Amino acid sequence: MVCMNKIAIIGGGASGLMAAITAAGEGCQVDLFEQNEKVGKKILASGNGRCNISNRNLSIIDYFGQHPDFSTFALKQYSFEEFEKFCRSLGLLLETKEDGKVYPLSNDAQSVVAAFENFALGLGVKIFTNHSITSVEKISGLFELLSNDNTYKGYHKALIATGSEAAPHLGGNNSGYRFASGFGLKIEQTYPSLVQLHIDSKSHYRMAGVKQNGEVTLYVNGKPEARSEGDILFTRYGISGFAILDISQKASSTLRDLQNVSIGVNLIPQFDHQSLTAQITKIAKSLPNYTLSMLLNGFLTIKIVPHLLKDAQINGELKGKELSTKMIKKVVHQLQNWRFKITDTHGFRHAEVSGGGVSSDAIDSKTMEAKEVSGLYFSGEVLDIVGKRGGYNLHFAWASGYLAGKALASKLMER
Ligand SMILES: Cc1cc2nc3c(=O)[nH]c(=O)nc-3n(C[C@H](O)[C@H](O)[C@H](O)COP(=O)(O)OP(=O)(O)OC[C@H]3O[C@@H](n4cnc5c(N)ncnc54)[C@H](O)[C@@H]3O)c2cc1C
Repeated sequence: MVCMNKIAIIGGGASGLMAAITAAGEGCQVDLFEQNEKVGKKILASGNGRCNISNRNLSIIDYFGQHPDFSTFALKQYSFEEFEKFCRSLGLLLETKEDGKVYPLSNDAQSVVAAFENFALGLGVKIFTNHSITSVEKISGLFELLSNDNTYKGYHKALIATGSEAAPHLGGNNSGYRFASGFGLKIEQTYPSLVQLHIDSKSHYRMAGVKQNGEVTLYVNGKPEARSEGDILFTRYGISGFAILDISQKASSTLRDLQNVSIGVNLIPQFDHQSLTAQITKIAKSLPNYTLSMLLNGFLTIKIVPHLLKDAQINGELKGKELSTKMIKKVVHQLQNWRFKITDTHGFRHAEVSGGGVSSDAIDSKTMEAKEVSGLYFSGEVLDIVGKRGGYNLHFAWASGYLAGKALASKLMER
């Protein structure tokens, strides 16, 4: 059956483009409104311009929100395999890299945006760039949008795919939440995620630019709650690197709840406490006239050593021959559990994504339609679902956009 619906999509990001293609593919008349001068700006910035487009190992445990299981249907219905098949139909080939992360074969995010935009245009989707929508209303059963002093009327259904407040320089804003609130939908408090952290320390800015591989444990009210491994980068404002981004969702959401949040940095996870103690003891014995600072230079970068010792009030000038077992144990403890209190995140400006958003309680997980407002849909990051780093956020944007696109094309059921 040919779709008779006239559809408005607000937001030309990953989710809006996917929904536009899906609905137009069913024969709907689709108008897509994008505030930026071009569509897909966040896609272009994703994965450092390479676009980590999806992940081969998608699972519900990789998503967070008040009700993470909201994403179960979307992930099942629109698995990685389905998505890959769809990309091939657009002429876009994918490649799986380390840890199941998936990138376009071209290794270039521009290929992704071009493939989606060209296909949408080919299906007759009208793309209105430089159109910031400022209001969405439902009048006599039809949706009306306001943009640049023009009113766009007569839409049977509307999709809000405006993304989140993260990365405002790429178009991030809170308009989707405003539209949702206008229709009486609940918003879960938002917070920056996949974001750098601010720490309470006198030494971090002196180590700015120093990168070390290690392990990070996140403590909430003194209890270990998350752990990750990878790059740890000290910066002028605090701490960054992949290991930090990976625990930032939990850190940021618990800070939002005003809990006590700290991290323990293990700079030498290759050894357990006992064997690292044995190693340092052995080296101190064989180099008795070396200072502690000199002894540690063989274990980690020289730029960290004085700050690490100062923070624990350990005298780096002590000679190897003067080090007691108790002192060596104290050094090892500091090397493997250097504690920093987290005071804040680096904010939405620097975050890749946002947690919180339109409450999943208010949305049908199979169609993405608002339960109380027939014909109004939400997909992508505007919803209270946020994923881990590694292609999970884009995949949820594609999958929820696909479900919304199918439902946008279905017969209108006025409630
Ligand atoms: C720097 C960076 C790197 C990232 N890297 C990755 C990665 O490698 N892998 C991954 O999975 N995820 C990554 N993400 C996250 C991913 O880009 C988002 O989760 C995803 O783009 C969300 O898709 P969306 O369609 O919901 O929102 P968006 O892609 O943000 O699209 C929303 C669109 O709506 C437009 N808009 C907003 N308000 C209005 C309005 N009122 N009127 C008209 N238009 C409006 C915006 O301009 C935007 O184009 C990254 C994000 C950033 C910022």
